[in-house]
Amino acid sequence: MAGIGILGGTFDPVHCGHLRLALEIREHLSLDGVRLLPAPNPRLRDAPRATVSQRLELLAAAADGEPNLQVDARELERDGPTYTVETLESFRREFSDEVLVFIMGMDSFQHLDRWHRWRELLDLAHLVVAHRPGGSLPQPGPIADLLERHRCDDVSALKSEPAGRIMICEPPLLDISATRIRALVAGGRSIRFLVPDKVIELINRTRCYTHAE
Ligand code: ATP
Repeated sequence: MAGIGILGGTFDPVHCGHLRLALEIREHLSLDGVRLLPAPNPRLRDAPRATVSQRLELLAAAADGEPNLQVDARELERDGPTYTVETLESFRREFSDEVLVFIMGMDSFQHLDRWHRWRELLDLAHLVVAHRPGGSLPQPGPIADLLERHRCDDVSALKSEPAGRIMICEPPLLDISATRIRALVAGGRSIRFLVPDKVIELINRTRCYTHAE
């Protein structure tokens, strides 16, 4: 089974750290491709700086010409709050028997027990967790227990089932964050080689990160 990777995020903006993560995991697991899944604006606070349509346009520019990356806007098309478990249910309806791999950074995995219906996520997909620089394994508690029960270090064992395993990966990660990109743009500094050139052109044209936070 080849399988489909899914990388969710705010992508405010997408940067080479996201894109390299997606490609590293795709190659490590020989997946068909990775879907880049932008999250809608949160209702209450910490709204992304760019609008939903700007973030989507930046993502499309980033994935343009890379056959292994596709932008998947399904969370932006839904009304009401979006929960990853419901998004994975929608993927599962579409790809009934496929291997589904939800990719996340260790920072997100550490707080998985705050996610809506988090215990059901593994019924729908595998979780592949990438260590970010400075990341540490979960402390004793529900997430460490979950990891112990579902951990799998073998690619072919993971790919023999459509869902249910957790793999911790240590791909080479670029030390880039969207926060830093926004700060550089607001400070009038270069973001060249941190984000694709087509994304830079769009950021310059729309001026979506020009003003300081
Ligand atoms: P911000 O700085 O605004 O918090 P971010 O750069 O962390 O943003 P997100 O859109 O929140 O970007 O990240 C989406 C996913 O990509 C998360 O799972 C996150 O852990 C992962 N990620 C972000 N930056 C990197 C990176 N440089 N290398 C690998 N994974 C990354």
